[in-house]
Amino acid sequence: MKKKLIAGNWKMNGSSAVNEVLLKAVIAGMTGNDCLVAVCVPAPYLAQAQALTASSGIDVGSQDVSQHESGAYTGEVSAAMLKDFGVRYVIVGHSERRQYHAESDALVALKAQRALASGITPIVCVGETLAEREAGQTEEVVKRQLAAVIHANGHCISEIVVAYEPVWAIGTGKTATPEQAQQVHAVLRAQLKAATPHADRVHILYGGSMNAANAAHLLGQLDIDGGLVGGASLKAPDFLSIIAAAR
Ligand code: PEP
Repeated sequence: MKKKLIAGNWKMNGSSAVNEVLLKAVIAGMTGNDCLVAVCVPAPYLAQAQALTASSGIDVGSQDVSQHESGAYTGEVSAAMLKDFGVRYVIVGHSERRQYHAESDALVALKAQRALASGITPIVCVGETLAEREAGQTEEVVKRQLAAVIHANGHCISEIVVAYEPVWAIGTGKTATPEQAQQVHAVLRAQLKAATPHADRVHILYGGSMNAANAAHLLGQLDIDGGLVGGASLKAPDFLSIIAAAR
């Protein structure tokens, strides 16, 4: 059975001083845990996070990547540059980027492709808004979002991580029930199975107000292979409780 993956998404939070305290506390609290752990940090802190987590068992991730390989794209960071910093994962298609930066399914698919081409695992976020859920469109939306990534990445699709993040649950304190989440994860697994014989290898994470209190129940579901954790990844005791629940 594959190990679960707990990935923290710090979003646009932190400072050199705060990051150091947080990472040292997480590392100190991680006694022989049996799951994979990553922290996706703001780009300026990649080198710091890399240095602080060296030989700790924590992998470092980024929160975005350019769709371009290199060149005149001011402000962009390429997948090759992230690889140069030892980055293991990159989040693509987070709902905040889809919402505030108008990222389309096709763009997210291209970003996933760039990451894979540089040997970085994309954590592909999919999820419906509250209006879409209430209109009964949850399956249609997540399948459309994942289909674009499958279409662009062909046989490499078993190398991605998927994160099901219902938009209405992100940073709101509202969590999908374990049963609601499992239902969508099963749909995503079936879609991956139709695309690759290695679908069982793919980690499908749940994200959306995962915390110390609800993690064990969510992580106990058949197709929930870990968590993408926002707010709770900024507090060492909370992040450590989620890691412990994933053992
Ligand atoms: C996220 O940003 O990916 C996320 C799941 O945030 P939160 O845990 O704060 O809802």
